[in-house]
Amino acid sequence: MLHNFGSINLDHVYRVPHLVRPGETLASSDYHVGLGGKGANQSLAMALAGGEVSHWGRISRQDAWARDILARAGVNVTFTELVDAPSGHAIIQVDDRGENAIILFPGANHGFTATDIEALLDACEPGDWILTQNECSALPELFSRARQHGVNLAFNPAPMSDAVNRLPLTACDLLFVNRGEAAWLAGVAQDEPAERLLDALSERLPDTATVLTLGHDGAWYQEGTARHHQPALAVEAVDTTAAGDTFIGYFLARRQAGDAVPRCLEVAATAAALGVMRPGAAESIPGRNDVEQALR
Ligand code: ATP
Repeated sequence: MLHNFGSINLDHVYRVPHLVRPGETLASSDYHVGLGGKGANQSLAMALAGGEVSHWGRISRQDAWARDILARAGVNVTFTELVDAPSGHAIIQVDDRGENAIILFPGANHGFTATDIEALLDACEPGDWILTQNECSALPELFSRARQHGVNLAFNPAPMSDAVNRLPLTACDLLFVNRGEAAWLAGVAQDEPAERLLDALSERLPDTATVLTLGHDGAWYQEGTARHHQPALAVEAVDTTAAGDTFIGYFLARRQAGDAVPRCLEVAATAAALGVMRPGAAESIPGRNDVEQALR
């Protein structure tokens, strides 16, 4: 079973002629709101991949529609609570040149405490996976208790922050990082070759397996001294938003289903490649049938 202790954010996107200047009031010509947050995207990807996933998250009672989207995609939302607090949300301005400026408010994603972590761990069976990102509170409690409960812990430290370096990362069984996150954790420059990033990560976390995604340069899997490279598919990318979330969701769903790592990487790279060919975030994540067809 997969449990995603994951963020849910609502993305409020405003189209503006230029980014708002200090003291200015600016009319927006277009507005839409959509489901976002790395946690929600990764739960959607796991469900679309055919995984049995429960999303442990919180949003405002007023935003139940966002939970319905997860449920319709096949995510178990029994533990996605509706609360009397504002939902996590992003206020996103996009100007005519495609530049953006974002205010992110964590809202209900930061309402979790040690008690919630106990409830999550009590609901897990040994061997289950818990996935999380760096967008919810109570991660120190999760990391320090996961091992005692015999669950596997997967962590995507995005968006990266100083708080990640204070977490007991040796508790992670599997780390999903992109180039910037790997460089930050490994303490090396971003432009180092992938092998150098992997060496430095394995020095810091020798017992943690790593998936390193590198955009159009594909992805690496490292476990102990074994490494496997998965090339990216050659496609015309129109929007790479949520490529990482799609990759993570597909990889973990296939891993939980018992596929060997090279197959998980191949399926995840195919799903992510289909995703970058479509605009948008959550709505760009492909379904299993499309991915299987592309793999033939
Ligand atoms: P995001 O934060 O936008 O979700 P990320 O930085 O976490 O992305 P990336 O490393 O950019 O993740 O991409 C994840 C995977 O998606 C890559 O390993 C690759 O398989 C696929 N991918 C990304 N960009 C492309 C591309 N231009 N062409 C083909 N595949 C791509």
